[in-house]
Amino acid sequence: MQKGQIGVTTENIFPVIKKFLYSDHEIFLRELVSNAIDATQKLKTLASFGDFKGELGEMKVRVTIDKEAGTLTVSDHGIGMTSEDIDKYINQIAFSGAEEFLNKYKDTANAIIGHFGLGFYSAFMVAKKVEIRSLNYKEGAEAVKWVCDGSPEYTMEPTDKAERGTDIVLYIDDDNKEFLEQARIDTLLKKYCRFLPVPVISGKEQEWKDGKYVDTDKDKIVNDTEPAWTKKPSELTDEDYRKFYHELYPGQEDPLFWIHLNVDYPFTLTGILFFPKIKSNLDIRKDRIQLYCNQVYVTDSVEGVVPEFMMLLQGVIDSPDIPLNVSRSYLQSDTAVKKISGYITKKVASRLDELFKENRADFEAKWDDIKIFIEYGMLTDEKFCDSAMKFAILRDTEGKYFTLDEYRTLVEASQTDKDGNVVYIYATDVTAQYNYIHSANEKGYNVLLMDGQLDGHFISMLESKLEKTRFVRVDSDVAEKLIPKEEAKDSGLTPEQISLLTPLFRSQIPAVEKADFLVSFESLDPAANPILITQNEYMRRMKDMAATQPGMSFYAELPDSYNLIVNTSQPVVAKILDEAEKALSEKLAPINGTIDADNEKITVLRSEIKDNKPTDEQKAEEKQLSDNVEKNRMEKEEIIARYASEKPVVKQAIDLALLANGLLRGRDLNEFINRSVKML
Ligand code: ADP
Ligand code: MG
Repeated sequence: MQKGQIGVTTENIFPVIKKFLYSDHEIFLRELVSNAIDATQKLKTLASFGDFKGELGEMKVRVTIDKEAGTLTVSDHGIGMTSEDIDKYINQIAFSGAEEFLNKYKDTANAIIGHFGLGFYSAFMVAKKVEIRSLNYKEGAEAVKWVCDGSPEYTMEPTDKAERGTDIVLYIDDDNKEFLEQARIDTLLKKYCRFLPVPVISGKEQEWKDGKYVDTDKDKIVNDTEPAWTKKPSELTDEDYRKFYHELYPGQEDPLFWIHLNVDYPFTLTGILFFPKIKSNLDIRKDRIQLYCNQVYVTDSVEGVVPEFMMLLQGVIDSPDIPLNVSRSYLQSDTAVKKISGYITKKVASRLDELFKENRADFEAKWDDIKIFIEYGMLTDEKFCDSAMKFAILRDTEGKYFTLDEYRTLVEASQTDKDGNVVYIYATDVTAQYNYIHSANEKGYNVLLMDGQLDGHFISMLESKLEKTRFVRVDSDVAEKLIPKEEAKDSGLTPEQISLLTPLFRSQIPAVEKADFLVSFESLDPAANPILITQNEYMRRMKDMAATQPGMSFYAELPDSYNLIVNTSQPVVAKILDEAEKALSEKLAPINGTIDADNEKITVLRSEIKDNKPTDEQKAEEKQLSDNVEKNRMEKEEIIARYASEKPVVKQAIDLALLANGLLRGRDLNEFINRSVKML
């Protein structure tokens, strides 16, 4: 019997293994089954090279639980180990056997899993004692038994084992009894071993008998050894892809489409990415892309490996070239990983382009579902954005789709403003903005529908990408002015008339929660409404942005500011002005006279002071005059307001405009209805 110390560089590696990897100790099963698969694949490779001439026999891996003995055993019929092998590969840990083997069979040994880092010793995370019983494939080899109880000491001695291959026997420790439950092991095998390339057996198939499930004699194979991504796209039908998708994510709707990845230079990567039907919001997906290394499940945290926007996709990526046991920040700076991420981006973009070209109608039909993904990609990935400019489509309020180029051609002639900018008009809500859309259409303008979650950002991005292009929301101005074609028309009012009409209308605006109104006058189409309410594009965008940005909630809390535009060409407005002038001019004449006189005095006084320092007297006089002006102005506005309050038509015109914007609510709405009934 050989006795010895395991050649670790640290004092004792086992406490380290247990302590640091405690949270993830279930991976021991992945490691041991992977080793068993490696050993099996190695023997197959040797056989294919003629270096092994014996019978391969049944090459399955078996995971067996013996509850009474308290053991979990992983067995294979692979290459097996001699005592020298165990010395070399197990006793001198930190020495990776896979590496040597790979060097020898470089080109074909791709299927050999290695470099998980922890490997065999992860068994000690759950076992108080581990036994290796192995018989090497070479003729005349002697079976060997190695035992280690978790201290750095081991024993190794000859044993009797008839079958070629290796049994790894774990004496599960008291803290980890769960790994003696078949159900727990089944779950783990499902997670880590589901697509391993060699059949893995654990437990028996069950059948329903006498009111309960009982074991049959049939071994239960837990894995699919040839998952779809390992096959050539030409071997697979659409149905195969869908079936595989449902195998990965049971209970989900069919995917919209998929992309089969297959590279072998400059790195090896295969996989299938699915576009799921994304529900209306950008929820954090729980069914995410899974990362495999030669069919061994590694993780479903693929941050860094795939570009962020692809986290919305589902499916599988399999690559032996992704460093698996390193930190996220390392992953993100790793050049191989960057290349992989870049490759996936390119591939996804070109596939989307293909789908668009092959069947545009189908692409359009799926657009509403994939739009969020494509926009997200365009916003976060420069390269993807450049390719996507070809197949990103815009939808108008009538449900027609256009590429960016097509849309420009469509609207260029009629929607170019006086400065040569093409103005894209958009709505965010067809129902609420119906009036505005209608007016814009009447003017011969097309209106886009931009109601997606990311559309706000998408619009800003397009404005920066597309030359001489500006977006305005359909309700940001009156239809005439959405696309300014010439210098704005004057309201046609004198300053006196403006000072009369402003308080007249302003005083009659009901208090609307979280909304401010700025009264202005414009000479618009006489057939248009007497009053229109618009919201400045820039201000609205600022607020929208503030709403989604943490730390900017202060802005979001500010009231919305609207423009209340009085159409001075509209007959009702003309009549209001006319009547008000008649009714009020006499009454206001003395006040206006005083205000003008005081203002005049202020002007004279200021010109006297000019660059000199004003005396105390002068200061007092100026203050006195300003106060007077202010007092008179207020009195004047009060007179106007009193007059306006007796003119239901003013309120009526304002309320109609508010109503068209969904801003008339509660008591104000009720008053409006009562007033309307009276007017009838
Ligand atoms: P790695 O798999 O990364 O090489 P491990 O610690 O998992 O590291 O395994 C160390 C070595 O032990 C393997 O490279 C292999 O040579 C040997 N080994 C482990 N398990 C088996 C097995 N079931 N059959 C044959 N050799 C094995
Ligand atoms: Mg290993």
